Amino acid sequence: MLKNILVLIVLNLFLFGHSQILKQEIPDKLVVLTFDDAPASQYSVVAPMLKEFGFGATFFVCEFPPNHKDSTLYMNWRQIKALDKMGFEVANHTRTHANVGKLSQMEFNAELEYIENKCDSLGIAEPKNFAYPGYGLNALALEFLLKKEYAFARAGGSRTYDPLVDHPYLIPSWATDSENKNEIMSSMGLAKNGKIVVLTLHGVPDIEHPWVNTPPELFMEYLQYLWDHNYKVISLRDLEAYIDVAVAKRIIAPDLSNNLKNKCHQRQFQNLFVSEFNSSVLSKIYCRFKKQNQQLRFRTPVPPW
Ligand SMILES: [Zn+2]
Repeated sequence: MLKNILVLIVLNLFLFGHSQILKQEIPDKLVVLTFDDAPASQYSVVAPMLKEFGFGATFFVCEFPPNHKDSTLYMNWRQIKALDKMGFEVANHTRTHANVGKLSQMEFNAELEYIENKCDSLGIAEPKNFAYPGYGLNALALEFLLKKEYAFARAGGSRTYDPLVDHPYLIPSWATDSENKNEIMSSMGLAKNGKIVVLTLHGVPDIEHPWVNTPPELFMEYLQYLWDHNYKVISLRDLEAYIDVAVAKRIIAPDLSNNLKNKCHQRQFQNLFVSEFNSSVLSKIYCRFKKQNQQLRFRTPVPPW
């Protein structure tokens, strides 16, 4: 009898706790778009395309070494500020794209603070969300993000985000590249029954890191598909309208045994020579966004030998 009562109490606490995580029901067809590493094409190609569709997105920025100052490859801070002014979320990806699983708390703090201070000095909204560079993480990194009061942290893992099961600092995502269209398209179908699909993109196109390249015409196909099928496309920040992160962090234990990396990251050295971009399709896309006067320079990826 006593055992049954205890089971009931535990079950009640569990169910009550979980009902508190959600501020409102997660609708079907909810997709979060995230963009990493601050390549130049995120300003010149991605942002205008997203604006055209009225979609939200999060840009996880860093000063990617060694070429972040090359404005043909990476956004400068003026362009990052423009993303903020356009209503997109600017979030933290560390200063140097550091594997935070290998940093001391002091080093991690310096990496985070550099981006925080940069945003502060430029009047960009305070970054409250984080993405693990290279999907590297450990329990200490999670602890530190908690200390710094970050809301969400995005990883990989190629599966849906279930806000009742996944810790807010272990948000799974799929990463796009030039070869996984079928996988990405079928992932979108999984945004239902309380599960959210989070996509990680890099450059559109990505000149320096071809293993995570998304050709602009493919990106356009994704956006068109989301639009045609009435998906709600938002930033990570927008998820706070649905999820009480403080409650979720209290109730959900982080499960570090799950796969938290994305396949295209693991494939990077098998795929150095990206397929040629279809320049005529590209130029058509650029013509739609004449407002942008940023010149993109294309060059063949250089192999590491
Ligand atoms: Zn990255």
